Amino acid sequence: MRSLRDNLAISAGKATAIGHFNVSDLVGLNAVAAAARRLGLPVLIGTSEGERAFIGVRQAAAVVRSIRDEYDFPIFLNGDHTHSLAKAEEAARAGYDMIGFDGSTLAFEENVRQTKQAVEAIKSINADIVVEGELGYIGSGSEIHDTVPESSLIFTRPDEAREFAEAAGVDVLAPAVGNMHGLLATMVRGEARKHLDIERIAQIKAATGMPPTLHGGSGTDDDDFRRAIEAGMTIVHISTELRLAWRRGLEAALAAEPDNLVPYQLFRKASEAMEEVVAKRLKLFNPL
Ligand SMILES: [Zn+2]
Repeated sequence: MRSLRDNLAISAGKATAIGHFNVSDLVGLNAVAAAARRLGLPVLIGTSEGERAFIGVRQAAAVVRSIRDEYDFPIFLNGDHTHSLAKAEEAARAGYDMIGFDGSTLAFEENVRQTKQAVEAIKSINADIVVEGELGYIGSGSEIHDTVPESSLIFTRPDEAREFAEAAGVDVLAPAVGNMHGLLATMVRGEARKHLDIERIAQIKAATGMPPTLHGGSGTDDDDFRRAIEAGMTIVHISTELRLAWRRGLEAALAAEPDNLVPYQLFRKASEAMEEVVAKRLKLFNPL
């Protein structure tokens, strides 16, 4: 079984991206795994601090490892948006393959200091863990917003990305390049799409010499996704689209069968809706 690091190098070489999908429970986790296995593509399961507290930090790691072992399949687990050293160490000890340390709301120097401290602590627990740093704020909350958070309009500069990556010692970097967490109501209605600064992505990759990660991918224009991946994006995060599919699938199931009390039958529609989103995005991120 190739490691996550090897899979990232292969993706970077082929100008494809590994899809990263956030889940809150086993229904979501199995839906992501099923879509990726069906397509034979590597995949990252993301759990934020809230999501992993709900599933169980060690339980999420155990489930992902069990799927990887049982099916000899490249599925990996990321501790997404980890804000504290204690949570980073907890995920590293639980067996996470990747940890995204998020100091993006901090001042530059403090972000470097805390991220570097996390990198050193994580690597001392397991040197194979891939550590991501974040530079540039893209809003918080994988939910539906009325307006674009103003601070997310400031994009990451290639020179500061290089300084940050070198000083903090991260393996991958998540910049702000037009991406945003969550979806605007206009995007949910299909009236608007997110657009990315493709030139800047290429410049950040060249400046740092490491694969950039795209957070807040939900609602991005398909062609922007293709060009961003050609320009070097190696991990692409999708969360809100999956949450929307879950909610709509579950609502449809509950409305269609008001007397049904069987969770696994009702959850099936939510699961199928999520699997469809994951498959569609994975195909786009991995052109033949
Ligand atoms: Zn994110």
